[in-house]
Parts: sequence; C-alpha cells; structure tokens
Amino acid sequence: MAINRVISAQSLNETEEKFNVSLRPKLLDECIGQRNVKDKLAIAIAAAQKRSEPLEHILFYGPPGLGKTTLANVVANEMGARLRCSSGPALTKAGDVMGLLSNVNTGDVLFIDEIHRLSTPVEEFIYPAMEEFKVDFTVDSGLHAKTINFPLKRFTLIGATTRAGLLSAPLRGRFGMLYHLEFYSAEELTAILERSAKLLNLHCEDQTLKLIAARSRGAPRTANRLLKRVRDYAQVKGEGVLTSKIVESALKMEQIDPLGLDELDRSFIRALVNVYDGGPAGIDAIAATLGEERDTLEDVVEPYLLQIGFLRRTKRGREITAKACEHLGLKCREEKNASDQADLFEQGK
Ligand code: ADP
Repeated sequence: MAINRVISAQSLNETEEKFNVSLRPKLLDECIGQRNVKDKLAIAIAAAQKRSEPLEHILFYGPPGLGKTTLANVVANEMGARLRCSSGPALTKAGDVMGLLSNVNTGDVLFIDEIHRLSTPVEEFIYPAMEEFKVDFTVDSGLHAKTINFPLKRFTLIGATTRAGLLSAPLRGRFGMLYHLEFYSAEELTAILERSAKLLNLHCEDQTLKLIAARSRGAPRTANRLLKRVRDYAQVKGEGVLTSKIVESALKMEQIDPLGLDELDRSFIRALVNVYDGGPAGIDAIAATLGEERDTLEDVVEPYLLQIGFLRRTKRGREITAKACEHLGLKCREEKNASDQADLFEQGK
C-alpha cells in the first residue's frame, strides 16, 4: 500500500520513471538545493579532471527521493563517463559483480543503489575491487578450485543508501567521499516544481506551486509526483490550468493534509497514540499493528515525522510528541492521564 501512495518517495514503475527521467537534472548547475554536497562535488570533479584521474568512490545517503540516483547521473555526466547501474539486492553472487566489473572501462561510474542490501560474500568480493582495482575470482570448487586474480580498470563506485547505519565499517571506510542528503526547503521545492512545470509545459497561476511544495514533505520526487496528480486533475476537472482551487481540490482528493501527511502517516500516529498510549513502542510492533513492512515505515514514514518533530526515537522505542497529537486532534498522554485522573476523582466522590 505504501509503495504506491502518492507521497511515497519510493521509486516508481516504468511509466513514472520515464516521467521522472525527463525531469531529472543532468548537470550540477541544473540541480536545485543540496548546496553543501554540490559545492564539494564540484571541487572533487574539477580536481579529478585536472589530474585526468577517475573520481574517488562516493556514498550518498539519506531518505528516498532526495536525489541520490540523480547525483550519480550528474557525476557521470560531469566527468563525461559512462554510467552502469545495479542494486544491492540484484547482486546476489560474486559472479554477478564479476559480470559488471569485467565490462567496466577506465573512468566508468558504477552505481549501486541500496548498497546496504549487498550480501556479505558480495561485499567482501568488492573490497579489493574498490581498493586495489582487482578481484580474486574462484572458479570450480573442491579439488579443482582455482583462484584467478583479475585486474580491473580504474572506475568510480557510487553507492546509495537510505540506511548508512546498516553499512559495515569496512565498506563505509572504502568510500573517499560520504555525503548526506538533506530534506529540501519549501523554497527549493518550489524552484524544482517551477523547473518541472516548465519542462512539462504547464500553465500555473501564481502561488500554486508553493501549495504543492508545502505538501511535498521535503522530497523532490514527491513534489514532482504531486505535480503530476494535480496536472491530471486540472485536465479532467478544469481547463488544464493549475489554479489554487484546482490544486487544493486535487490534494484533498489524494487525502494529503497541509503538512504533506497522507493516510499512512496518520495511521502510524494514530496507532502509536491509541494502541501504544503514545509509546515507546518497537518498530516491529507498530509495523505488525499497521500490517505494513518495517522497511517502509523506517524509510518512508519515520524520517519526515522525525524531521517535523512529530516523532521521537528513544532506546526504548518510538514515542509520539504532543505536536503530532495536536495536529490530528488526538489526546496526548499527559492530557489522557489528566482526564483519567479526573474521571477517577469524579467516581470517588
Ligand atoms: P533517490 O535516488 O534519492 O531516491 P532520485 O535521484 O531518484 O532520488 O530523485 C527523484 C526525483 O527527484 C528525480 O527524478 C528528479 O526528477 C528529482 N530531483 C532529485 N534531486 C533533484 C534536484 N537537486 N533538483 C531538481 N530535481 C531533483
């Protein structure tokens, strides 16, 4: 359910990816926001070009939909390099990696999404490739087993992960540059939407894009996806022009509230308040209550709730804040305790 929700920052099916591809910035200058990361990347790229060397390995980490894949594409474009893409779950055996690495040319960029999901044997196989640009490949087994030392061309590995914490220390240590992507401000998202609206040839009234940006929960992918929903709505219910009224109605139909929370976010908050008395509660317990994947909650729901101060992560589990209860009109624990005590007092009279 969460994967297909409108504000999910998860990657989409092919058609939507196509929509995204055309909106994906190709060069650093076209990327909006992430000033810090962009500045450091620009220096690293210029320095590598001056030395005529491939870039060091890079790790991008942060919640989904913030631009990790986009930046990998941008780095390859800026370096004039070829990009080869794969992902942690797709590389199950050393042979899969061997297939990728043996086709890599000098300077190529190899992008591995969800790199935290590489299996330990694959991860260990990659270490010498990253460090010394060689791999030790074992062919046959038992008595006939032979280890072949295979030299590789110098390449740049770009890893992306939503969970840097799950990466083993040896793998993390082999990246020369580690960049954390931050949520985007409303102004940055408005600028991204202006760029997208232009590319999609959309007519928007003043301020309408600001309304969408405010509900995009800090992620460009969500912003672009909401823009697409609103565009559909405007085409069917209006004249195709994005007016404030059309945008408000479209977002209401998608059940997205003024803070960008959708039904899954609200169910998460309600479950914590109603079932777990506001917490602390373990993420597995909450996932079981909601019938959702733990990963979805950790990747897609929690980062934004933490960011806006609706959720606290403590050693004992997740706790909801009074601010979240207020937003949904729910009684928070202190209020509940006070009213329970008042009831007891009334009963005792
Ligand atoms: P991630 O890999 O972190 O999940 P993506 O790189 O796939 O995120 O980004 C999702 C979409 O958001 C892209 O297709 C692109 O259209 C848009 N996007 C990401 N970063 C930027 C940016 N800095 N400026 C403009 N659009 C962006």
